[in-house]
Amino acid sequence: MSFDIFNLSLELTKALEKNNYKVPTPIQEAVIPLVKTKQDIMAQAKTGSGKTASFVIPILETLKEDEVQKKAKIKVLVLAPTRELTLQIAQTFSTLSQTFSKQLSIVSVIGGEKIGEQLLKIQKGCDIVVATSGRLVDIIGKKQIDLSTIEYFVLDEADKMLDLGFVQELDEILKIIPKNRQNLLFSATFSPKVIDIASKITNKALKVKIEDSN
Ligand code: ADP
Ligand code: MG
Repeated sequence: MSFDIFNLSLELTKALEKNNYKVPTPIQEAVIPLVKTKQDIMAQAKTGSGKTASFVIPILETLKEDEVQKKAKIKVLVLAPTRELTLQIAQTFSTLSQTFSKQLSIVSVIGGEKIGEQLLKIQKGCDIVVATSGRLVDIIGKKQIDLSTIEYFVLDEADKMLDLGFVQELDEILKIIPKNRQNLLFSATFSPKVIDIASKITNKALKVKIEDSN
């Protein structure tokens, strides 16, 4: 089994090779073709199973096809629970698109860093925003971000969205992103809390569950 089964573009195939992605993991095998159906997805697989690339690969494949705009519009919004995970996801988008002739702009929106630089990058125009909810809500409050063009909304590591403030912040974010979007939710477990959050975000989500083989 190789990534060939997905019929990915040459540019993306090259990026996968460069980064030593040879064989898709089970969650990637399941999720990559499903994202193309445009349906919402709730996917569960244990930590370390490759959930990030399972959404990064199909999203990059569609962004690559989009026309180049004078100023990029934000098409992808990913929420992650921590600064570290946010940076890792942004890095995966960046390394797996390094071979593209069309350069994508990816901005990390996280706390603990000066907000000014993040605002500047957003104002210049970007394709992908990877954020922690607190800092994103701060930026929304400043009316400095246009999220009306979002096509993909990804909630990663949903079971780690533990703090109470998260649900409130999520509500703020859901108010301003388009209703007509594809929602992808990833988690290591489907606890009642995760299912509760999923019901707020997703609509008739397809459920993918990769059992732990150990
Ligand atoms: P999860 O989110 O499920 O905990 P990650 O998406 O962070 O897992 O992936 C774990 C590690 O595996 C990362 O270092 C990633 O680069 C690597 N990885 C993911 N998919 C593949 C693959 N198909 N081939 C090789 N390495 C992979
Ligand atoms: Mg992950």
